[in-house]
Amino acid sequence: MTQLPFPSMIDALVANARRSAEQIADRADQQLRVVVRNTYEHVPFYRDHWKSSGFSPDDFSGRQDLPAIPLIDKDMIVSAEEDALDSRLTPQEMFVMSTSGTSGRAIHVRRTLLEMRAVRRGYLRSLLTAGARPWHRVLTMASPWLKEKQGSFVGKIVKTHHLLPLDSPEEQIASIESFKPDGLIGQTGGLYLLAREIVRRGKQFPLAFLCPTGATLMPEMAQAMRDAFGTEPRDLYGAVEVGGIAWQCPQSNYHIDADRVVFEVVDEVGSPVPAGTPGQAVVTALYQYAMPIIRYRLLDITAISTRTCDCARHLPLMERVQGRVNDFLPAPSGELVSPHFFFHLYDHAKTTPVKEWRIIQNELADLTYEYVPEEHFNSDDLRIGMDMIHKKFGQDATVRAVEVASIPMTSNGKRTCIISKLRSKATPAYRPWIQDEPVMPLPDDQAGVNRRIKASVGQEPDSGEENHQCQH
Ligand SMILES: [Zn+2]
Repeated sequence: MTQLPFPSMIDALVANARRSAEQIADRADQQLRVVVRNTYEHVPFYRDHWKSSGFSPDDFSGRQDLPAIPLIDKDMIVSAEEDALDSRLTPQEMFVMSTSGTSGRAIHVRRTLLEMRAVRRGYLRSLLTAGARPWHRVLTMASPWLKEKQGSFVGKIVKTHHLLPLDSPEEQIASIESFKPDGLIGQTGGLYLLAREIVRRGKQFPLAFLCPTGATLMPEMAQAMRDAFGTEPRDLYGAVEVGGIAWQCPQSNYHIDADRVVFEVVDEVGSPVPAGTPGQAVVTALYQYAMPIIRYRLLDITAISTRTCDCARHLPLMERVQGRVNDFLPAPSGELVSPHFFFHLYDHAKTTPVKEWRIIQNELADLTYEYVPEEHFNSDDLRIGMDMIHKKFGQDATVRAVEVASIPMTSNGKRTCIISKLRSKATPAYRPWIQDEPVMPLPDDQAGVNRRIKASVGQEPDSGEENHQCQH
C-alpha cells in the first residue's frame, strides 16, 4: 500500500490550484489509471461488478473511458461490506467515518492515515481560500459526535469552540459573545437559523470567514449570513465518502477539487452530459485505495459550468447544486418541480406570510402545505403561494394549507421540508431527468415518510446529504 501515490503538501495546498487546466487533467488521468487498476486487483466488490458489466482496466486509459465503468451507489457499497475494501488491509490500518443520511443505511467510510491526510489537505485548501488562517479562533457547528471526537481536524490546527445546532439561540449567541470567533464553519441550516436570529435581534458579529456546508446554500440563506456576520459565506460542497468536492472562491464560483476527485455530471445511463446541462453528480476519488469510490452517485443535481473564473485558480467550475434528487417532486404534467420553486412561492406577494413550512406530496396531485405563520400573517399572500402550487400541479390538484405550531426538526438542527410519498420504481435513486418514468407509492406511505424523517436523525455535517431549510 505504501508505494501508492499521494499528492504532496505543497501540491495539495498551493501548487495544484495554480497549474493549467491541461496539467490538472493530465495528472488526474494518470492517477485515475492507478486507482482503477489497484481497485480491480485488490477490491472484490469492484472487480466482480466490473467483470459482470464487461469492463476491464486493460481498456482504460483515462477520463474519457469512465462511461464504460458502471455507476455505483451507497446501497451497493454498504451491501458489499468487507468486499468494498482492499483485501490486503486489516481493520487496525483504517480509520472509520460513518454517516447515515436521509436515504437510510449508514455507510462506514474507511481510510488509511495517508488517505485521511489527503482528504484533510483538500478541506484545508478550501478553508484557506475562504479566508481562514492558522491563528484564527474558529467556531464550528455540527452534530454532537464531532464535539465528542477528540482532536477533530479543525481542533488540531486552530483554536476551536463547538456549537450544537439544537442549543437555543440564546446559548449559541452567548457562545459567540464569549468566544469571539474569527470564523464559523458548520451546517448550512444551523448557521442560517443562527444568522436569522442574530439579524432579528438587530445584532451583527463580523467574521473574517464563514463556511456553511452540508446543504445547498440558498440565496436567502447567504443573505441572512451576510447580514449577521458581515462577510460573504463560502460554501463547501462535499460528501463523507470522498471529503471535499468543490468550494467557492473569492469570486463565488465553485471550483472542483479536480486534483483529488473526478467529478462528472451524467444522464440516466451514466454518460456525461454537456457542460451547462443539469444531470446527476457522480464522483470518483483519486486517492482512496482502502475503500475506493469510483463513479459513485451523489444524488445531487447540478451541472459542469461553462464559465471561467478570473481568480487565477484553474481548477474547473461546477454550478451550484440545484437540489437533491429526491427533493424534486413530479407533477401530473410530467414536469419535475425543483425544490427552488417552493422557496420562491411568495416572490410576487407583498409579504412572506410563513415563518417555516414543508410540502408533503401525498399523491401525484394531492399536496399538503404545512406552515408556521409569520407575525404579520396575511391570508391573501398565502393564497398567492397556494395558487402557484396549483399552477404547477394542475387546477384539479388538492392543495391543503395547514397551519402548524412548528415543523419537526432532527437532532442535528435540520429540517426536511420537501417530502414525497411517491417514489420512482428506480429507487433508491429517483431519476428526475427521466420525465416519463412512472412513479409508484411506497407500500406504506406514512411509514415511508416516518422512516425518512427518522433516518435523517444522526446525520453528519459533511455528509453531503441535503435537507433544505424550510424557513423564509
Ligand atoms: Zn475562482
